[in-house]
Amino acid sequence: MASYDQIIKVKSTYRSEARNFFFFLQAIGRKYTRPVKIKYRYLKRGRFHVIINGGPGGIDAILQELVLNRGLYYYSCSLPHKSEIISCVVLPIFKQLIDYRFLNPQSRFLRKHILGKRAQTDFVPTDMKNEFSYRFEVLFRKWDIGVTLDKDYLIELDAMLHNFLLNKLGHIKGERSEVFYKLLKRLKKIFMLDAETESSFIKTHDMRTDILHRLGSPKGKDELHEISNNLYRYFQYIDEFEESQKEKTIKIRGKRYKRIKYGNESALDENGKPYLDENGEPIDWDKVTEEHDCHDCCVKKGQYHVEGCDAEVCPKCGGQFISFDCGLPSE
Ligand SMILES: [Zn+2]
Ligand SMILES: [Zn+2]
Repeated sequence: MASYDQIIKVKSTYRSEARNFFFFLQAIGRKYTRPVKIKYRYLKRGRFHVIINGGPGGIDAILQELVLNRGLYYYSCSLPHKSEIISCVVLPIFKQLIDYRFLNPQSRFLRKHILGKRAQTDFVPTDMKNEFSYRFEVLFRKWDIGVTLDKDYLIELDAMLHNFLLNKLGHIKGERSEVFYKLLKRLKKIFMLDAETESSFIKTHDMRTDILHRLGSPKGKDELHEISNNLYRYFQYIDEFEESQKEKTIKIRGKRYKRIKYGNESALDENGKPYLDENGEPIDWDKVTEEHDCHDCCVKKGQYHVEGCDAEVCPKCGGQFISFDCGLPSE
């Protein structure tokens, strides 16, 4: 059980309406297959202390589901003085909840969503920032909570994976492209793709081809779950990877340094001599990094390590970056 708390603020004149909304959230949480307990206590001047308890997947899922199943919209429809309560209670409380919980809450869409002026699948609060990871999480969550049927999920997922491959391979729109399996093979040469993920890509594509021909629903719900879990991990990694590639410099003790990419590390020891391998031969670092991905974060030569990788070298002292011997990085 993961638990966290936050202070949520509303105008104090709306505290009883706020209580009603918390009561609604509590009831939803209790009914959830992965129960989420929401406790709240009124402090003063419109401030509530809210404690949320539940599995990490459950808390994310319930907040996403309230958007995906239009729970906020239907709740608001039942209210007297609807637009006033939306503006002063439902919107601010839910906005504070998702802003606190998600890295990419997308709360700018929230008002229109609650008012029913946007399709329910237009936005979903997630932790994923890059396009494909976000698209994956939305597809996954819609299927996970039963908004999308297995068959439609597979069709959409397969199309999304296909787009992902084309995008990563720099495919130009409108040009002829190779079949799915060939694209996958090419991607593996230039981009991180472990065997488990590769097989999940293939299984998705095969199952999708299957339903296309039989026009039935796919068999193997368990398999679909397993595939989805693998892809979830992969797209989470992709998100961290993409974020890391954007950080080209790092600030240590007030000074900015260029981060060192995988393969650009110095292969010399403190005496200026090359490191030796187990046979006493000097290590050809250029060749090693050409042939092997980073042992910890799996990036290819020429890419930045993913945040927290134990192989990233400190640009200031040449030591291991995550030991922070030169001080913690600052903003
Ligand atoms: Zn690394
Ligand atoms: Zn250092």
